[in-house]
This record gives sequence, C-alpha cells and structure tokens, in this order.
Amino acid sequence: MSDYDFDYFVIGGGSGGVRSARIAAGHGARVGLAEGKYYGGTCVNVGCVPKKLFTYAADFSHAFEDAQGFGWDAVHPAFDWNILLKNKNTEIARLNDIYKNLLDNAGVKRFDDYASLIDPHTLDVGGQKITAEKILIATGGTPRRPDFDGAEHVHISDEAFYLKDFPKSVVIQGGGYIAVEFARIFHGLGADVTLLYRGKYILKHFDQDIGPFLQNEMTKQGITILTETDITKIEKTEKGYSVDLTNGETLKTGLVFSAIGRTPNTESLALEQAGVKTDKAGRITVNENYQTNFDHIYAVGDVTPTAQLTPVALAEGHVLADRLFNKQKDRAVDYTYIPTAVFSSPPCATTGLTEQQAREKGLEIEVYKTDFKPMIHTLSGRDERTLMKLIVNKADNKVIGAHMIGKDVPEMMQGVAVAMNAGATKADFDRTIGIHPTSAEEFVTMRSAV
Ligand code: NDP
Repeated sequence: MSDYDFDYFVIGGGSGGVRSARIAAGHGARVGLAEGKYYGGTCVNVGCVPKKLFTYAADFSHAFEDAQGFGWDAVHPAFDWNILLKNKNTEIARLNDIYKNLLDNAGVKRFDDYASLIDPHTLDVGGQKITAEKILIATGGTPRRPDFDGAEHVHISDEAFYLKDFPKSVVIQGGGYIAVEFARIFHGLGADVTLLYRGKYILKHFDQDIGPFLQNEMTKQGITILTETDITKIEKTEKGYSVDLTNGETLKTGLVFSAIGRTPNTESLALEQAGVKTDKAGRITVNENYQTNFDHIYAVGDVTPTAQLTPVALAEGHVLADRLFNKQKDRAVDYTYIPTAVFSSPPCATTGLTEQQAREKGLEIEVYKTDFKPMIHTLSGRDERTLMKLIVNKADNKVIGAHMIGKDVPEMMQGVAVAMNAGATKADFDRTIGIHPTSAEEFVTMRSAV
C-alpha cells in the first residue's frame, strides 16, 4: 500500500471516470472520485440520455400521422413541454442516484466537489488537500459558444434541456450531431425549424452520401436548411430574436440554438500548475497508455483528442483500470470500427471507413448501395426513403465501411459493427440468411457493386 491517501484518484464523475473508478476499486485499489456538478456527466445529464428521451417524444408526431394509412382515426394531439421536462428530470435524477450508488457499492470514496491539481501528486478537492499515487482526469467537455455580435443570446445544448418555454420557432447553427439531432427534436415537437450550416452538406465527416440524402429527407419533412450560410449578428427583440445571416437575410425567431462543437473541461484543473500538457485545442495529450506527460497522471474520454462518444470513454476508463490494477497489460481499446449514430429523422448510423476515406487511403474498393421506400411507408403515405451502403476492400473482400439512413438503423448498426470487427467479408454478408421482411435484410442481399 502506498503512502498516498489514495492509490487512484479520479477527477470527473462522468462515463469514463465512474467506470474507471469502480473497476479499479473492484480490483482492490483505494479509489477516490471528485465530481462537482452531476454524476453521470454529459451523457446522463445533458447529452445522450435526455436527447434520446426527447427524440422518443418527437417520434410520436410521425407515428400519429402515419397511423392513418393503417386505418386509425386522425388524432389531434396536444403537446405539453412541461410534462416532458418534468418526467425527463425525474428520470435523470434516478440515474444520478444510480451512478452514486455504483461508486458507493464499489467502495469508491466520493467527493461531491471540484478538484484541481496543486502538484503532480496533490489535489485540492473543495479546499481539502488529497494525495494520490495515480490520478485520472476524466472531466469531459462542454459546448463551445460562438463569438459573433449578440452571441450571448444563443442557447447551447446544456440549456436546451431545461428550456422554461417551448419555442414556436428555432434557428439552429451547425451541421453536426447536436444541431441535426435538435433540429429533429424541435421540429418533431412542433417548432418551425431553420438549420444554418456553413458548409454545403451537413454531417461533413460522414460518408459523402449521408449529408445530401439526410438533408433531402429533413427538407421534405418541413425543416428549412440554409447551407453555406451562417449567423453574423443576433439582437433581442420584444418577441424573440432577430438573426442576421451571411447571405444578407434577417430571420425572426423565438430561440437561437447553437451547436458548433465542444471544448474540453480543463479550465478549473490548474493543469499548468502541475505541468500537464495540452494540445492546441486545449485537449490533454496522452499516449497509447492514456498517460499524460507525467507517467502517473492519466486522461480518458472527451478531455483528450479521442472520439467524443460515451462508449469510447467507457472503454478507455475500463481498460485503463484493468491495466493499472489487474495486471492486464495487453487489454486495449479497439478503435478500428467504432459504430455511431445520429438520432435524426430518419436516423443515420455508420461504422468504419467512408467512401472518401477509403479512396484517400488509396484502397481499391467496391461500393454497394441501395435506396428504397421502406415497407411501412407504402401504407403510411410518408415520402421517406432509406439508404444503405457498404464499402468493400477489393484486396481481401472485407467490409470496411457500412452507412445507413432509415428507421431503426442505430439498432441495426451495432450488429453490423460486430461482424466488421470480427473481420467479416462481403462473402460472409452474402451467405447470411436475411430476416424477412425487414430493411436490415438489404445488408445481406446487395449483390452488384455500383
Ligand atoms: P460536431 O463536431 O458534430 O459538429 C459541429 C458543427 O458545427 C459542424 O457542422 C461544424 O461545421 C460547425 N461549426 C464548427 N465551428 C463553427 C463556427 N465557428 N461557425 C459555424 N459553424 C461551426 O459537434 P457537435 O457540437 O454537434 O457535437 C459535439 C460532439 O459530441 C460530436 O462530435 C460527437 O462526437 C458528440 N455527440 C455524439 C452524439 C451521438 O453519438 N449521437 C450526439 C451528440 C454529440 P464543419 O462541419 O464545416 O466543420
């Protein structure tokens, strides 16, 4: 046992920190964890979980409409934002408690306070000096605020989860995950939505077919998308906001929502004082062992330059604890095929290389693609299409990319990712029997490369 107060002290009670702390404690380490805000981090409080609950709420609007083609009477639904907010908050409070219990039951000593570094082995935790042999920084990130004139009027995602009043109209800045998901939420719950994206097609980092296809689907549903357009200025008016755009237009709206990426939470850590290095974007630099420039100070999750996804932070925190306290030196996170989904309408999901990435790598590829009206919409009457795409490496026939837009695709993509991680070839997909009638069976029936 070391002379330090703790063998392992974790700063941050989000996905990566909580997982790492409780696994380390399970391996017998004396573990402390400091969290000054809420347990569960962004994902549980102002991210994945409340977003998904809001998305379920928004999905009902389509369900009510689509039901009529199946013989149901028209319903004239009324939506109450306050009920959704209250029920969501109750659920989040329940999850906060679960996270605390997970730590307590694992024997982790919780400090419900912020922590900063005094020196490489000493922390200030709410005014208390604590020493630790090993330290993990897992403080996550926070939405970046824009800096145009009147940017103080903008709402970021943290705030949108607690809006007092539901707006009649929303202008959204950004074309990434959060902007697109909130466009779906606000629109589905009844607001008029205008999405402003500075580039040509939203979801720029996804496969080249995803952005244009999704943009078309969102537009058909009634979301206005202005591309190559951004905000220059916002003014508060009596009824809402006046938003000046780069194209010379001015929009009047009830709410301006901005989602232009996230910045790491490092400000309050006093990293410079301890000498922990960050990159240009302010993210903590780590090596393949998650070590910072100090061998005993580690960092995982969104505070580092890794993929900003909850399951990635969980995997990193877990592997690190196993390596440090269970002698599992060979444990590693496999970053090759990370599946991810955007909960748009229809949702999209992806694993592996995009067509453009595969070509940039100089790979000879075959592209399999299909685009069809899903069965449900033959009767619902909704003009919505599904897109599926596989990228295959010609050299070894392996499926190296899978991309899809359509109902339920986030549920489908998880299984496809398992197959890809296991090294499945296109021939393996082809000899797999489909489940009929589903959209998913198209993944095993695409026969001709385009
Ligand atoms: P993203 O990186 O996904 O998207 C940021 C968007 O903002 C891009 O369209 C970008 O344009 C645009 N942008 C960036 N800077 C500016 C600027 N100065 N002015 C105007 N537009 C700008 O970030 P998000 O904030 O949407 O999400 C942050 C991260 O959180 C995601 O990357 C993802 O990892 C994670 N997340 C995951 C979710 C999921 O798994 N479903 C859901 C929500 C978030 P351009 O493309 O041209 O650079």
